[in-house]
Amino acid sequence: METTQYFQKIGNDMWLTEDERDNLKISYRIKEVLYSEKSPFQHVMVLDSYDFGRMLVLDGVVQTTSSDGYIYNEMISHIPLSIHPNPEKVLIIGGGDCGVAREVCKYPNVKEIDMVEIDELVVKACKEYLPEVSGNLNDPRVNFLYIDGVQYAAEKENEYDIIIVDSSDPIGPAEQLFSKSFYSHLKKALKEDGLMVCQSQSPVFHLDVFKQSHAHLSSLFPIVKPYTAVVPTYPGGLWSFTIGSKKYENIHVQNFDKETKYVSQDLLEGCFKLPQFIEDAIK
Ligand code: SAM
Repeated sequence: METTQYFQKIGNDMWLTEDERDNLKISYRIKEVLYSEKSPFQHVMVLDSYDFGRMLVLDGVVQTTSSDGYIYNEMISHIPLSIHPNPEKVLIIGGGDCGVAREVCKYPNVKEIDMVEIDELVVKACKEYLPEVSGNLNDPRVNFLYIDGVQYAAEKENEYDIIIVDSSDPIGPAEQLFSKSFYSHLKKALKEDGLMVCQSQSPVFHLDVFKQSHAHLSSLFPIVKPYTAVVPTYPGGLWSFTIGSKKYENIHVQNFDKETKYVSQDLLEGCFKLPQFIEDAIK
């Protein structure tokens, strides 16, 4: 088994230690390193862990796992797709594990999905070593574009019904994906009734980032709606997503019929109910 700065050996066991913040480290006992390569952007690994199965790890940070990746991927996809009444063209920014594209492909009315991922190596690694998340995605509606999402969005106008920002944490190449100027480019790239969603980090550990995303989107969109889900492998567990919409506000779906493990009709109807401390934060 390969040892890098991210691993620690305790007895005969190998542990991945994610450095979350000064006073918090999260460790996973690892069975095997299945893939490990450095790209021009980051260190890409797929590991097999004891409790969470296979996991994608970028620069030592767990991005998604075969045991709980479906929670995040379903929540960031089916909520916007259940608000827009007729989404035909969808843009995904980031999303290299292909889990979001896989969910969007469940909608037959979606004709085209542009997936703009900065790092081709993430897609290659996940297609080969993380099929539980990527589903070996080969739907012809998905166009893979390997460029910076910030640059891509800046050049688009009035093109997309839905934009999903499935980014890593706001450091390195993903830092700009949390900026107000990026969100303003997304607004321009959306059609006049379009809507976007971004992951807006942990309201427990990164309330500042959550509040900032909310403030940026509120200054650009008439409708802004945060929602949450619990993702066990994300620090703090509770995770947030924020929708910025030009026109549509409510879930229009009445009989949710997609094959999912987390999202249901009841969940669609209840997902915008927020814990009190989050309501207070955005007052
Ligand atoms: N669900 C995960 C989470 O919240 O931690 C993130 C999933 S996905 C793996 C994030 C992807 O965003 C990565 O593959 C990364 O390469 C990509 N990414 C980061 N910065 C980017 C940028 N500027 N443009 C496009 N993709 C970017």
